[in-house]
Amino acid sequence: MKLRYSLAILVLFLLSSCYGIEDGVVGGKLPNFDGERAYKIVVDQVSLGPRYPGSEGHEAVQVYIIDYLKQFGWSVEQQKIEYQGKQISNIIAYRHEYIDLNQEWVIFGAHYDTRMVSDEDPNPSRRMEPVPGANDGGSGVAVLLEMARILPSIPNMNIWLVFFDAEDNGKLNGWQWAMGSAAFVDQLTLFPDKVVIVDMVGDADQNIYLEKSSDPELAAEVWQAAEDLGIETFINEPKHRILDDHTAFLMKEIPAIDIIDIEYPYWHTTQDTIDKVSPQSLKNVGDVLLFWLLREHFKVGGDQ
Ligand SMILES: [Zn+2]
Repeated sequence: MKLRYSLAILVLFLLSSCYGIEDGVVGGKLPNFDGERAYKIVVDQVSLGPRYPGSEGHEAVQVYIIDYLKQFGWSVEQQKIEYQGKQISNIIAYRHEYIDLNQEWVIFGAHYDTRMVSDEDPNPSRRMEPVPGANDGGSGVAVLLEMARILPSIPNMNIWLVFFDAEDNGKLNGWQWAMGSAAFVDQLTLFPDKVVIVDMVGDADQNIYLEKSSDPELAAEVWQAAEDLGIETFINEPKHRILDDHTAFLMKEIPAIDIIDIEYPYWHTTQDTIDKVSPQSLKNVGDVLLFWLLREHFKVGGDQ
């Protein structure tokens, strides 16, 4: 399927005055990110089984994500790519059909695929089992889908939610990491202003350091939002350099950051299960993203 934005993007979306600011954002109130709902989205995904390309769960989770988005009024397109004999599919959601070039374009992204094998499992006999992917795969999707539920239709901002496939099967069967986002960036004809990736953000023992390759200015904005909210699990120190779904954007000089808590003992093991994830950790990240996104726009939490 040809993506609509590659052609129609040149048509300016003229804003009509009948678009009002809705859903309680006016008046200095942020929409309420519900950590329990987000946690339930993690549970739902894990119940579908492993979600690596070619698996049943991979098909099922795509249906789940698309249904969820449509339920809350998002338009959805799938970007299907053939990669090494398997079909991979990015899921792209937006509120406005056309990009208004006069307004900021922000993409929030997360990978939804899980790793085919638990190659970091401490028990060698379990290393061929697939990763359940509660945190690695499940958590980022949960944050984005809960945002999809509560994000108001903002008239003068272009917001896309992109669910990337094929992030997490690098070094298996000749695959590379983060292939879905690489394919997505390849097909862009215009570039977004800001890209925020969330990955492995659900650990109950949450410690989110600045990822070293991330765009420093954008990272500073987001970590400042966390500080202003008093969320201490965002730690304002650079640590770890990670190849993830932000990398392809950075290679095109698009400002992008990776919000990731890589210090997760169950990473790529059979123990990446729902009991390791907490609603509060998911909420921390959702609250920071919403505050960062909306406070300037609606003067939320301003010092008036
Ligand atoms: Zn992973």
